[in-house]
Amino acid sequence: MQRLQSTLDRIDRKGYGAYKDLQGSYDLEGFTLFVDRVQRDPFAPPSLVRVRTKENRLDPSLFGNPVRRVAFEDFLTRSVERALRRAVKGNRGSGGSGRIEIQRASQAVLPRTSVVVEPESVEARMAVGLPARGRTIDARAARTMLLEELPRAVREALMLAGVDAELARTYVEVVEDADHLRNRLPDLGLVAFVADGAMLPRESGASDRPLRDGTVPFRSPEEFRVAVELPNGGSVSGMGIPEGVTLVAGGGFHGKSTLLSALAWGVYDHVPGDGRELVVSRADAVKIRAEDGRSVAGVDISGMIGDLPGGRATEDFSTPNASGSTSQAANIAEALEIGTSLLLVDEDTSATNFMIRDERMRELVRKEPISPFIDLVRPLYETLGVSTVVVVGGVGDYLDVADHVILMEDYEPGDATDRAKEVRERFPVRAPLGTGEARTPKGRRVRAASIDLRRGKRETARGKGSSTIELGRERVDLSYLEQLAEAGQTEAIARIIGEFATGDTSRGVGEIVYGALDAIKSDGLDSLGNFRGHPGELSLPRPQEVAAAINRIRSLEATTEK
Ligand code: ADP
Ligand code: MG
Repeated sequence: MQRLQSTLDRIDRKGYGAYKDLQGSYDLEGFTLFVDRVQRDPFAPPSLVRVRTKENRLDPSLFGNPVRRVAFEDFLTRSVERALRRAVKGNRGSGGSGRIEIQRASQAVLPRTSVVVEPESVEARMAVGLPARGRTIDARAARTMLLEELPRAVREALMLAGVDAELARTYVEVVEDADHLRNRLPDLGLVAFVADGAMLPRESGASDRPLRDGTVPFRSPEEFRVAVELPNGGSVSGMGIPEGVTLVAGGGFHGKSTLLSALAWGVYDHVPGDGRELVVSRADAVKIRAEDGRSVAGVDISGMIGDLPGGRATEDFSTPNASGSTSQAANIAEALEIGTSLLLVDEDTSATNFMIRDERMRELVRKEPISPFIDLVRPLYETLGVSTVVVVGGVGDYLDVADHVILMEDYEPGDATDRAKEVRERFPVRAPLGTGEARTPKGRRVRAASIDLRRGKRETARGKGSSTIELGRERVDLSYLEQLAEAGQTEAIARIIGEFATGDTSRGVGEIVYGALDAIKSDGLDSLGNFRGHPGELSLPRPQEVAAAINRIRSLEATTEK
C-alpha cells in the first residue's frame, strides 16, 4: 500500500506517460492489486488491472462443478459491476479519467474472463481510466480510486461479508436447473422446452431485458405439456416441442416471433429474473434468416438451389452479393456444415421465394432453380434428423408439412394440429408440392492467406462492439447473427480468426472452429488473451457463431472438399 502511495506521490502532475511506473503488483488489505497494462494517454483504451483476494471463504458448493462455477463467476461479475457503480465516482478529468469497469454481461450466463474463482482466491479483472487533468497525472484522484473506491467494491462484491450467500445459491441453482433441462431434451425427444409461467417478451427491440408491464405469462397447451424433474427446483411443467417439423401459426402481433426468439436464445442459460430461465432449446439450434448482400464463399447450396443462369453450378457457390433467397440457402448450408439439430425460421425475416412457391408460379415459371424451403423441411428431418420450428402467418401450404401446429392467440399458445388437418382436407392444395432432397453440404477448406490482418504497420483482429469484427482493413458485419449475445463473444471470435489467419494453411471450417474451442476447453478462455495477466474482456462463443463469422469475411477464399 505504501509503495503504491509513494509511487503516486512521485509521479503526481508529471506527464501521463509516467503512469507506467505503476505497473506491477501491490499488497492491499485482503487482496492483491495487479496493474497489468497502463494506457498511454487518458483517451486511449483504459488500463487493465486485476484484484485477487488472499483467501476464498465463500461456500465451496457454490462452485463445486463446472456449471455452478460458470454461474457463480457470472453472479460475481454482475455483483462487481453493481458494487463499482455504487463505489466509483466516475468522471474525474479528461478522457476516460475516473472510470472503473468490469466486462458488461448480457442476459446470458456465459463463461467469461471477468472473474475467476479458485479454491484459495477470487480474482476479478477490470479496466481503469487512470485520471488526468489535461494530459498530466492527477495522483490524488488515482489514490482515491485505487485505495478507496476499488477496495470498497472488492469488499462488497467478492468477500464473505459482502456476498449475499442466499442470492448466490439461488442463482447457481437456477442456472444448474436450466442446464440440466437442456441436456435432457434429446432423450425426451424434444427440441425445446418453454416453462409454464415464463415471461417471453422483451423491453424493446433494442433491449433484451424483460418487458416490465402487461406481460402475459406463458401457459402450455395441455397436449404439449411435459413435466421434468430438476436437480434443485423440483418438478417443472411446460410446453415441450417435439422433434420434427413444428409450425407456429397465428395472427399478426400475437406473439409468434417473440416465442421463436425466446427459443433462439434458449441455447444459453439466462440470468435469474430474466423471465426465460427455464426456456431452453438444443444447444446447437440456429436461427436462419435472409441476409441479402452478404458474401458467400464456396458454399455447396446445390441441395437447395439448382444451376443458376448461365449454367453457374451451385456446388461451390460464391458471390460478393447474395440475394435474399441465396443468402438464406447459404445460411442453412453453413449451419448444416458446422452442425445443428434444430433450425428456427421466421417468415418475418425470410425471403418469400425461398419459403414457398404457389401453384400459379409453379405453372408460370419453369426456370426456377430454387427448391423452396417447404419442399426441404421434411427431408431435412427425415434424411438428416434436423428438426425445424417455423413461424408462419400467411402461407397455409405449410400445414401440409407440419407434424405439429401451435396456434398463438393473444400471446397464448394452443394446439391446432387437429384443426390444421381438417383445414387441409377441406382446402387441399391443387398442385402437389415439389419433392426436395436433403443432403449434407460438402465441407469446405478455408485458405488462411485470404484473410489479411495488416492495417498500416500493425496486424489487427479484434471485436468492435458486439456486431463487428475488424480484421486488418476489413470490417466483418455480424449484425444479422441473432444468437450472438455480447461483445465478449465477438472479441473471442475475432481472436480465434486472428490466430488462424496468421498461419499459412488451408483448413476445414469445422476443423478451425472445433480445434479452437477444444483448445479453450483445455486451456481456458484466458489462453486467447493478448496481455500478460489480464486477458481482456472475453466470453465463450458457440461453434455456430464462430463459423458464421468466418463465413462472412468478404475476402475469404474457400473451396468445397472433393
Ligand atoms: P407476431 O410475430 O405474432 O406478429 P410478436 O411476437 O412480434 O408478434 O409480438 C407482438 C408484440 O406483442 C411485441 O411488442 C411483443 O413484445 C408483445 N408480446 C409478445 N408476447 C407477449 C406476452 N406474452 N405478453 C405481452 N406482450 C407480448
Ligand atoms: Mg412476427
